[in-house]
Amino acid sequence: MVEVLDAREASVGSMLVQRALPRRRRRTVGAWCFVDQFGPATVDVDGGIDIGPHPHTGLQTVTYLTDGQVLHRDSLGSEQVIRPGQLNLMTAGNGVVHAEEPTGHYRGLLHGVQLWVAQPDATRAGAAAFEHHAELPQLELPAALVTVLVGEVAGTLSPARRDTDHVGAEVLLRAGTTVLPLEPSQEHALVVLDGVLVLDDRLAVPGQTVYLGIGRDEVVLATAEPTTRVLLLGGTPFEEPLLMWWNFVGRSREEVAEAQRQWAADDRSRFGAVATGLARVPAPAPPWTR
Ligand code: MN
Repeated sequence: MVEVLDAREASVGSMLVQRALPRRRRRTVGAWCFVDQFGPATVDVDGGIDIGPHPHTGLQTVTYLTDGQVLHRDSLGSEQVIRPGQLNLMTAGNGVVHAEEPTGHYRGLLHGVQLWVAQPDATRAGAAAFEHHAELPQLELPAALVTVLVGEVAGTLSPARRDTDHVGAEVLLRAGTTVLPLEPSQEHALVVLDGVLVLDDRLAVPGQTVYLGIGRDEVVLATAEPTTRVLLLGGTPFEEPLLMWWNFVGRSREEVAEAQRQWAADDRSRFGAVATGLARVPAPAPPWTR
């Protein structure tokens, strides 16, 4: 029994994105609480992603590209170009600010995902951090190449920081059938990035997500195109109460409203600043305070 969910269109800066999570019928998969797919789009040297400085709390941002380049800057002083097959992982903890920009030299195709992972109570009030992984571990299956971004797939473990037991991996499917091993204590979903995914006689195309539920020790995948690329997401269902609003993940309206006030007041003791030419993104007042 699988469930195919459509993404909804949203804009981030000047970029149109396909938002796979959260959806009304499915808010989270494990601790994964937000999934945006951007592109494929052709960008110029100053085009593509242009998201000015904005804050986060209580989450990790996970950035992964299949095509193109993006420049990440944050209030920790990080300045990192990301390329296909690499991982940018920023942990917000109590507060961080970042910007996502064109590199100033790359032109061509841009395609990728930016996801959020909800941090557990154990770390969500902690320090901010940033990691770049230029190389990620891969696993060859008979008709698939799996790149493990976070967590573990069939014994292949990513070095990326992980505060809950979630998994994220890119699966590149070639002609044939792939039996992808899964951890049955986790729920899983597959976000289609390219091609056409075939699963239980169902088809899923880019912009669609196949929710697989919990308790599976494998899933059988095939492709209706020469190659198909999907993102595997999974984890133990996240049981802590989540309040997501704007760029904040918290536990209560009070907590989120406090973060909004501090950002609006440019309180640098909490959020710091980013060295960039892009304009700071203003936070609207939360609807329950208006
Ligand atoms: Mn962000």
